[in-house]
This record gives sequence, structure tokens and C-alpha cells, in this order.
Amino acid sequence: MRLQLLPSTIDEDGRASARQHLLSIVIDDRVAIDAGCLAFSCSRKQREQVRDIILTHTHLDHIASLPMFIDDLFASLTSPIRVHATPEMIEILERDIFNWEIYPRFSELTNSHGKVIEYMPFEGGSTFTVEHLSIQSIPVNHKVAANGFIASDGKTSVAITGDTATTDELWRECNARRDLAAVLVECAFPNDMAELAGASQHLVPKLLSQELAKLDGSPRVLVINLKPMYREKVIGEITSLGLSNVEVLEVGRVYEF
Ligand SMILES: [Zn+2]
Repeated sequence: MRLQLLPSTIDEDGRASARQHLLSIVIDDRVAIDAGCLAFSCSRKQREQVRDIILTHTHLDHIASLPMFIDDLFASLTSPIRVHATPEMIEILERDIFNWEIYPRFSELTNSHGKVIEYMPFEGGSTFTVEHLSIQSIPVNHKVAANGFIASDGKTSVAITGDTATTDELWRECNARRDLAAVLVECAFPNDMAELAGASQHLVPKLLSQELAKLDGSPRVLVINLKPMYREKVIGEITSLGLSNVEVLEVGRVYEF
């Protein structure tokens, strides 16, 4: 399984920056988890191939480029973009994003081939198939209803927490997998911002280490969702944990599991 966290910002020299404002993870150049920056920084191949987008939740940093991704492809789509989301998320998207005022309601529009967006509702806790992947959704703890996922291609499984505070179920499900190759886990704020992290339901490095203690064994752990403003501080605190299986996921790098 190939997995890439797409860049969402550029540095002064015009190159992709490590700062992660938005989240989109593309699996095997075909399936996207979240669409924070998908339209802004996907490759040509990914633009041509990604027709399934699975949403963890509806916070803007996870859906910001969803309207543009569909807009960009509108005339050329021969099949709709399938947005996999819970019924609550779909309601929010239709009410607050695709409401004709923020952006056109693509669900009411067609091109010469037919529909351009198709909602694929899933219930939190369910397992469903997306392209070549089996996706297990696991409700996590965040300010809005949110899900983490364990994606499996039949050979390897990778867990992605999305945004979450402390949780148990996701770690339990990870421990039930024999083929778990990696866990992508969020850690948004440094330790001295634990109060804000608690209020916004995110993790800090100290909580991250407590969460990882719930995992059996030492699978490869890749940390995502570091708030750009505190990135260096969070990296320092994660390094200080001294956990040899834990590293910060490199934005833009293609990982193979
Ligand atoms: Zn969020």
C-alpha cells in the first residue's frame, strides 16, 4: 500500500513546505482520505484517478478543497466523485458548503455523462469497500462527529486516526489486526497547550505516549496533524518521548507499507 500526505503550503522558494495546514492522504494514487488540500496539491495522476474521497469529519482543514476538486473535473468526469461520509457529515456539506452561496450544489448538477458527485453514506463503526480497499470506520473523540479508519488492501492494514482526543476503540481495533503495518496518529499541540488541546479535542505529545501505550507491540507510528505554528516544538517533544517506533510523517513523501 502506497500512502502520501499531500503538501498544503509552499515555502519562500516555491517548494512544498512541511507545514501542514490542511489534510489529504492519498492511498495508491486512487483513494483520498479527506480533501483539505487534494485539489491544490495532488499530482496529475491522482487528479485523473482519484474518484473516491473518504471523510473523517467536516472541519474545514479536512474538506477545504473538496468543492474545487469537483469543480476542476466537472466537465471531464465520466463517473461521479464518490464522497464517503456519515449522514450527519453529508447534511453539513449540503447545508453549509454546497448551498449555492458558499459553492454550487453539485448534487443537483450534471455534466454530459451524468452526476458529478455521489454521496456514499456510511455509519460510524461500519466496514465498507472503496476501490481495492476495505475501510473500517471507527468513531473517535473530536468536537464534531469524527471517524478514524483502518484501511486494508488484503495484505496490509494502515490505521489513520484523523483528528481525535484520547480514545480506546481505535487502539482496540488496531490490536485486533495481524497485518497492521503502520498507524498515522494526530498530535496537534505542544504539551504546554494541553488545555487548548483538551478543549478542541486534539492530542499533545504527553497524551500521545499514553495513547500509544494502549497499542500491542511496536508498530510503526507516523505522527500527523501538527499545527504549523507549533510544529518544531511538537517535534522536539515527540523526540523527547524516546520511542524508537515513532516518527513525524514527512509531508509529500510516498510511504510504502
Ligand atoms: Zn477537526
